Amino acid sequence: MSTNLQFDQIRLPTECETLRKDVRAFLADEIAKGTFDPHRPGHGDSHDRAFSRRVGAKGWIGMTWPKKYGGQERTFLERYVVTEEFRVANAPVRMHFVADRQSGPILLKYAPEHIKSDILPRICRGELCFVIGMSEPGSGSDLFAAKAKATKVDGGWRLNGSKVWTSNAHVADYMIGLFRTSPPSKENRRHGLTQFLIDMKAKGIAVNPIYQMTGQHDFNEVVFDGAFMPDDHLLGEIDGAWKQATSELAYERSGPERFLETFYVMLELIRALGPEPDIRSAEGLGRLVAQLHTLRRMSVSVAGMLQAGKEPVVEGSIVKDLGTIWEQKLPHRVRELTAFLAPEIGNRATLEEQLAFATAVAPKLTIQGGTTEILRGIIARGLGLR
Ligand SMILES: Cc1cc2nc3c(=O)[nH]c(=O)nc-3n(C[C@H](O)[C@H](O)[C@H](O)COP(=O)(O)OP(=O)(O)OC[C@H]3O[C@@H](n4cnc5c(N)ncnc54)[C@H](O)[C@@H]3O)c2cc1C
Repeated sequence: MSTNLQFDQIRLPTECETLRKDVRAFLADEIAKGTFDPHRPGHGDSHDRAFSRRVGAKGWIGMTWPKKYGGQERTFLERYVVTEEFRVANAPVRMHFVADRQSGPILLKYAPEHIKSDILPRICRGELCFVIGMSEPGSGSDLFAAKAKATKVDGGWRLNGSKVWTSNAHVADYMIGLFRTSPPSKENRRHGLTQFLIDMKAKGIAVNPIYQMTGQHDFNEVVFDGAFMPDDHLLGEIDGAWKQATSELAYERSGPERFLETFYVMLELIRALGPEPDIRSAEGLGRLVAQLHTLRRMSVSVAGMLQAGKEPVVEGSIVKDLGTIWEQKLPHRVRELTAFLAPEIGNRATLEEQLAFATAVAPKLTIQGGTTEILRGIIARGLGLR
């Protein structure tokens, strides 16, 4: 069995608590101004460019990146606190979140200098929305079966094919997309894919909506019909993107957003139970809090490992697997725990609205960012079991 699997014991340092107070004050002010309603389900999923700009002005986007690109050179643990507070408050982060979490770090590693100097400061200012162009019809879990093609032409590349389930593509400025530049080799079926920075305003890109069960327009099909990308939009190694795409997943899978998407129902549960819950309810709530605390310790540990320059892909997969299952079950558990409360409890209408929304959202939680089965395959491999 592999001995590499390890969750380092990490505690958030004191500077994180000072930052947490600043973030809470900012969010309280935004709520008071009416920017968003922390009790309205789905609000955390909305796009608000003006809000993202105000977050950028606080220095809370790209906060771990070098100052010369607009970052703050702060730690992954400080970034963790900001992400956690924004999620718990149900704040509308979608416009900037993917760029902050994973697209920016890819550009930092693989983009040419002039692209970094142009784009990274704009991400930090909250001006740009990025999307992930990995999944295709016929290759979601099996990323390396991607067929969408990039063909070399004079001065750049022509893109053809389709991406699917592309969250936020209808509002996006840029995609980081995975395209086939050569067939897979005999020795390595992952060979032959290349990552590109794609300007979503380019000619030859059509974005078609796909609606969620909640009725939200969240993700899309994106069809490329000869869209042209210049040479300097190629990221990293031609045909070698499988290494880049794999390391991106440690960023994508371990953050507090992976267990806080339905957290608002837990807050509503606490309000509904009041200060003196009966013993059954107290036991149920206690279990949820203990499980959440454990998830949080594991997720903070992964943030600490990212800070230390490690690539905790297996540990991140464990957090995502456990976290998404927990948040998926949460609405059902809250419904059980509130079923026998008096119908006239003060927040019944809000609770019912939130439960209805969270129940419709729940199925997608264990699919987005890698399905449960795929994560368990990665974990098994990390443990040396396959
Ligand atoms: C809300 C949401 C947002 C998303 N946003 C994006 C996005 O922005 N960009 C993007 O690129 N993608 C996005 N996705 C796509 C997501 O990552 C894929 O849906 C996911 O990887 C699964 O791929 P698939 O839908 O093709 O299912 P499939 O890969 O066909 O899987 C179907 C079933 O088979 C199982 N399965 C597949 N292969 C194996 C295996 N080897 N071993 C065991 N079981 C297996 C899966 O676990 C699943 O249960 C999003 C998905 C959702 C739900």
